[in-house]
Amino acid sequence: MATKAQGIEVAMLENALLQALQEAITPSRISTDQTTLSILARDALHPGRMPGWTVTQPLCVVRPEHTSEVATVIRLANTYGIPVIPVGGGSGLMGGAASIVPGVVLDLRGLQEIHIRPADRMADVGAGATIQALNQAAAPYGLMCAHDPWTVAVATVGGTIGTNSLGYLGGKYGSMGDQVLGVEAVLPTGEIMTTRAVEKSSTGPGLHRLFIGAEGCFGIVTGATLRLFPLPQARLLQAWEFADFATGFTAINALLQVGLRPGLLEYSDENPAVDHEPPATLIMSFEGPRRVAQAEAEEAASLCTAHQGQQLPLQHAEAFWTQRHDSGDAYAAARAAGQTWNRHLRRHPLDYLHVALPPSAVLDYRRQSLTILAQHHLHVLHTGLWCHAGLFNIAFSGTEAAMFTTVQSVLVQLCQDMHGAMEFCHHGPHLIVCGETVGRCTPTRRSSPSSRSVRAGCPGHRAVGKRFYQRPPRP
Ligand SMILES: Cc1cc2nc3c(=O)[nH]c(=O)nc-3n(C[C@H](O)[C@H](O)[C@H](O)COP(=O)(O)OP(=O)(O)OC[C@H]3O[C@@H](n4cnc5c(N)ncnc54)[C@H](O)[C@@H]3O)c2cc1C
Repeated sequence: MATKAQGIEVAMLENALLQALQEAITPSRISTDQTTLSILARDALHPGRMPGWTVTQPLCVVRPEHTSEVATVIRLANTYGIPVIPVGGGSGLMGGAASIVPGVVLDLRGLQEIHIRPADRMADVGAGATIQALNQAAAPYGLMCAHDPWTVAVATVGGTIGTNSLGYLGGKYGSMGDQVLGVEAVLPTGEIMTTRAVEKSSTGPGLHRLFIGAEGCFGIVTGATLRLFPLPQARLLQAWEFADFATGFTAINALLQVGLRPGLLEYSDENPAVDHEPPATLIMSFEGPRRVAQAEAEEAASLCTAHQGQQLPLQHAEAFWTQRHDSGDAYAAARAAGQTWNRHLRRHPLDYLHVALPPSAVLDYRRQSLTILAQHHLHVLHTGLWCHAGLFNIAFSGTEAAMFTTVQSVLVQLCQDMHGAMEFCHHGPHLIVCGETVGRCTPTRRSSPSSRSVRAGCPGHRAVGKRFYQRPPRP
């Protein structure tokens, strides 16, 4: 516990930093009012996912408009030993952008520049631009960003790179990280680094990759050069029903085995249990030049039929596609209005886990997970796949939220034992890896932009993470 003298020393440092910031940055872009502080102190992490955790009031919110201002903030924060928390859309589900210790919240949404380069099928984009804004700018050129998360309207380029976010088109185009050709970033020292944005280079390690999925560990992304893809001439949707999860899983593997790459691959059942295997629904898109999409859709249909699939009316897939952003839009609206996301108010708490596994381990993992959840008296809402046969998700509910933490740890451990990795989306890097790399690579831990980042969804690893929440040594 901090002594009174230490408390006074901290307050003096915080005041000194505030004053230095006000001299260096346009004062109107520094906020200390309660409303702004309380909105920007949290992201979309459900409080129930980290029992006992509360957000702390930030020292201030700074909204830079240029990379040089980000560098200034980092350098000053370094001088005074105050943490910096980079925040984009604040839609991260794992608390990575939430304030755990009082620090400077760097609201990067002011970095808005979008420059479309149609001849290169690339875009130079500021970290604060949303994916939706990028799409709006690219569409007149017949181009699109191939990353399509639920939160397209609110998630920023910096945040989606930081979390290596995955979207509805991930089956064909990969994750956000796969869209990144180069980055501009401010390092923990305050230096600005730009990587060369080309399709491939062999001049050393691909440094831009260090920033993908790193949630600010190695620096703050201030801009990126992203791939763009042609808006598809045709997007053909299909929906199928299979007698049970395993039957549809075999069909999906058969599609992937012949080299089909659906843009959308959404597979799920409802209320499965150890002794109850309900039907499962597969929704897919095939897209690109019309004749190519048509040929792929026909091949997929014939394989699904051969694997006992029943085709559902097209409206089923169309309704899914039309509503795919609804939940993200609701979050965006709630955050813009400064309100708590109403999903937090559900009567029965729920939790979920997204894991990446070798596809051959998925059915066994699912079976063991259903057993573990039944043993803990938790009700499974659904199991499913997203984008790929190895990206498995499971959601469950129960009256005792406290039980979730225990079960999450068991399920994560099981996943690791089966050569899988923790959540494939909605998540930052593995906490232990993150902790070790931050410890080794950050020149000074003091201002490692997100050495305080929470990685809160890893209940089993919280003790390790705690080191990074603590106030660093004084300069
Ligand atoms: C309803 C809902 C649906 C969602 N659907 C999806 C989905 O389909 N797919 C998916 O992957 N996720 C999804 N998420 C989670 C979230 O939208 C994504 O993780 C998204 O990528 C976060 O972007 P953001 O700009 O909001 O980042 P933030 O929440 O602001 O930040 C996320 C992390 O990145 C760090 N960060 C932010 N900006 C930078 C930067 N410029 N440089 C370095 N680090 C930075 C933050 O410190 C934090 O650790 C969903 C969330 C909600 C609430």
